[in-house]
Amino acid sequence: MSPSMTVAKSQSKSYQAAIGVRGDCVYCPLSLSIDSYWNCLTDCHHCVFRRLNRTWGTDLRPADPEDVKRKLFNGVRNKEPKSSLAWALYHKKTIRLGNKTDPYQDAEHKFHISRKIQQALIRLKWTYVIQTRFLSNLGWMNLLCGMPTSIISFR
Ligand code: SF4
Repeated sequence: MSPSMTVAKSQSKSYQAAIGVRGDCVYCPLSLSIDSYWNCLTDCHHCVFRRLNRTWGTDLRPADPEDVKRKLFNGVRNKEPKSSLAWALYHKKTIRLGNKTDPYQDAEHKFHISRKIQQALIRLKWTYVIQTRFLSNLGWMNLLCGMPTSIISFR
């Protein structure tokens, strides 16, 4: 499939499970994460997820920022969290933006999903860490929106 077909196909689907948590959420300070995209179109040769994409599919599937915002908003108001994810949201654990895919891959120029999610996190006063290897994309996009960048971690 050509990259343009992949992007076109990706627009018809959105990533439903964009917010995730690892099982060690009680102990790990960065177990809660958001993936703005299901996949990385970058397809780096060294990527540990590259092989898995053959099973999971190679379409981009951007997350729906409104859905992510709603889940975050509802999460902190859920007084009886029953799952690990609900517990982590209720306690406003620091979020790692970029878990299985890069939030500032080049597709962000077109979709602006990470930017919108970051805006929601700032509005909710939620601490977060950005995990990206695309520092140049991150730099100018955040500069344009006047957004502070808390911490950056490299892949
Ligand atoms: S940018 Fe990161 S997550 Fe995306 S393909 Fe490359 S190594 Fe994998």
